[in-house]
Amino acid sequence: MRKVERKTYPQCHRCEKRVCYPVIGVDEEPPFSEAPEFCPMRLHSEVIQRALSEYDKEDVREFARLASLQEFECYEWVTEGIRTKLPRVEETIQFAKKNGYKRIGIAFCIGLMNEVRILAQILERKGFEVVSVCCKAGAIPKERIGLKAEEKISGPDIFESMCSPITQAEILNVEEVDFVIQLGLCVGHDTLFMKYCRLPMTVLAVKDRVLGHNPLAALYLSTSPYYSRLRARQTY
Ligand code: SF4
Repeated sequence: MRKVERKTYPQCHRCEKRVCYPVIGVDEEPPFSEAPEFCPMRLHSEVIQRALSEYDKEDVREFARLASLQEFECYEWVTEGIRTKLPRVEETIQFAKKNGYKRIGIAFCIGLMNEVRILAQILERKGFEVVSVCCKAGAIPKERIGLKAEEKISGPDIFESMCSPITQAEILNVEEVDFVIQLGLCVGHDTLFMKYCRLPMTVLAVKDRVLGHNPLAALYLSTSPYYSRLRARQTY
């Protein structure tokens, strides 16, 4: 694992200033000099310029424009102020249509079979063709990647298929879907999927076996006794 030797590195999570997101008029300049020492705008100005130049590529710029347009359309101003109006599934559908995607791939966890059926039906009713691949496709036993008998969830004497996110990714690559939606992949399996999938993708939901696939609930509850263990200090 690479070790970063520098003492100062980007730590936006500590920022109180948010110079990058100022409340100023359209003709004003953000107060860059007020940025904290750990601000990536101080530490990585060259990287920022290099990244920015990627948007000069026409396809990247258009994709980014549509993504930000979609973001804009997720809000509305009413007399009480601004409010949100689209759940992520609708946002995803609208974004896919903006891009002209017709064939949607879903990479899902077999534990979310019910959810994937609902999602596929919704997408089909909105006019998309749906290609889906579950994590167990291949039916390869877990022993293939070195799991021991006692490390299988259902028990040592039971055949247990491994999750193969690489298989999911490669099948969707071959199927040439326009856009991929991840649904409920596990930590690590999702990492491999993102490494091998060469298609534009988004995530509808991540796996959280305890919290209804809403991992942020644990953060919200970490200041209450229920999940205070999350805040207990540990040596690495
Ligand atoms: S980019 Fe700079 S100003 Fe913005 S949150 Fe990060 S540290 Fe703060």
